[in-house]
Amino acid sequence: TSTRGCVRGVELHAHVGGCVRPETLRELARERGFESKCDEVLERAFSCAAANSSPGETLKRCFDVFAIAHAACDTPSAIRRVCAECVEDFRADGCAYVELRTTPKDLVGANGEFKMTKRSYTEAACAGLADAGGLGDGSDGRCVARLVLSIDRGRDDTKEKAMETVQLAAEFMHRGVVGVDLSGAPHKGSWELYEDALKEARQLGLGIVLHCGEVVDTKDEQAKMIAFKPERLGHCVYTVRDDDLYGRLLASKIPVELCLTSNVMTRSCDSVSEHHAKKLLRDGAPICFCTDDTWVFNTTLRREYAIACDAFGLTMNDIRDMAIRAMNFALCDEHVKIKVIEQM
Ligand code: 5GP
Repeated sequence: TSTRGCVRGVELHAHVGGCVRPETLRELARERGFESKCDEVLERAFSCAAANSSPGETLKRCFDVFAIAHAACDTPSAIRRVCAECVEDFRADGCAYVELRTTPKDLVGANGEFKMTKRSYTEAACAGLADAGGLGDGSDGRCVARLVLSIDRGRDDTKEKAMETVQLAAEFMHRGVVGVDLSGAPHKGSWELYEDALKEARQLGLGIVLHCGEVVDTKDEQAKMIAFKPERLGHCVYTVRDDDLYGRLLASKIPVELCLTSNVMTRSCDSVSEHHAKKLLRDGAPICFCTDDTWVFNTTLRREYAIACDAFGLTMNDIRDMAIRAMNFALCDEHVKIKVIEQM
């Protein structure tokens, strides 16, 4: 697919663990003695998709892929490096603004002592953004980067763990953290487990972004997410397919982050031409195109824009306008939005 022209992109939905450079991942894996596993796990995840297993099963297998990135990025210095590289890569891809998200993790080493804590993880991620020169306000024209801390539905399986992430996000607001995300395996955890922590995040002045409607049979939870009125929702595959939920989503005017390649590769959608972006575009809903996981889905933001042009008959001018509108959905300060939009 051609890239057709040069638009400054706005990336609002990219997970650090899914956007590690393949060569960095291999290098880190080699140092830790499991290099060959990288390719093996990726191949297994996507041969599952090719084998026509159920969409839910394919999505589950994709979560195995992240375990590889987590095993390779198991020290604060590795996290710092991959966060810096993520910013550099999105900058090289033409982004004016990137909001990266990542899950702070506690990790115990072989000797039983902490190798990494949620705090040292968050510190390292913020340092990575600073190393890449991402913490400016946009007035110098360089790509601005900000960080969202994710609560992982699998890993953060208690209210206390979710609350710890929120407290860290608040504490690191002066170092680039702008919000809190709820992500991870969508069939795990419950809305009730996370609601208090998300309310607290809002109270503390953080933006809230939620993964919503990635799997079937979660209607009740999706309705609660919409009613919560987060700053943005991610994916909304099954939200758009349900008339009642779709009506609520449109009425709420909550912007939706759409990841075309990701949804097709995880078999949430059969093809890009049948992607729910089409319906959202038709109805004038606020949306933005994003990558989700550049390494896992072998994509870039520029490529996602080109795919959207081909599939939905958009022009690069449309994409530019959409990217500028997306900047208004960003979680950073208003003065940063203004500066970045001026550059765009
Ligand atoms: P990390 O938080 O380790 O930087 O990035 C990888 C993590 O992002 C995964 O372990 C998973 O929790 C989350 N993630 C990445 N892609 C997706 C996705 O498409 N859906 C959901 N729900 N979570 C995702």
